[in-house]
Amino acid sequence: MHEGSPHEVDAAVTDERDDRPDDDQHEPARRKGRRRPADKVYDTLLTQLMSQRIEPGSRVTVDVLARELGVSQTPIRDALNRLEADDLVVRVPNAGYRIPPQITRDRFEDMLEARLLLEPAAARKAAERASSKQLARLRTVLDEMAALSDGHAAYGEFGLLDAAFHDLVATSGGNRVIHEALARMHAHVHLFRLVYDAQVTDLATNEHEEVLAAVAARDPDAAAYAMRRHILLSGERIRRLFETGADDRETTRG
Ligand SMILES: [Zn+2]
Repeated sequence: MHEGSPHEVDAAVTDERDDRPDDDQHEPARRKGRRRPADKVYDTLLTQLMSQRIEPGSRVTVDVLARELGVSQTPIRDALNRLEADDLVVRVPNAGYRIPPQITRDRFEDMLEARLLLEPAAARKAAERASSKQLARLRTVLDEMAALSDGHAAYGEFGLLDAAFHDLVATSGGNRVIHEALARMHAHVHLFRLVYDAQVTDLATNEHEEVLAAVAARDPDAAAYAMRRHILLSGERIRRLFETGADDRETTRG
């Protein structure tokens, strides 16, 4: 990889980066403006998972969701199939779907370790080769996050945008294997499901700005550092909540 020689790589790609066609196939669906009903349902269900409107251990059925969301059963089925493939719901024969339990402390630590291996590398490459269009999209996601209000519903929305931001950094880095590995991990869904902490959103905002500033400044070292710092700090915030235990989690609302 290019870890040891960021400047050589930087020089090699600088002249052509704005001419490169955007890799739209790998952009998150929500950024494309041509979203199918099933994509919207999928995002809505992710938001509800992250804001704990759908609780771990509970059941959901196609009928009830179709009524609640005011759409037909087909997009609900499509979205649930996708969630099942992502291990975010479990199909129960003749009884709809079960919401799996939250991740364990061990899984949380493993996920953090994997993200620390992949995401700073992705941010480094994004600083080297993000197109101006991708930089503009990253800016838009952070602006959308900043515009969110407080509260549980917005927390889920924040989670979705947080995931979109990290996904875009990975896409901008251009390594599809890294992007796919991160996408498959669904780190944000699992992490946001663990806790509700309004403070998390404010603190993460500054860290995201640092990542984008470094990527936009074409500074691979600073981008890798800012991403590493963000993952370590957000991991620390969640670890603290693990340690205070489930009973105290609600008191951290701000
Ligand atoms: Zn983040």
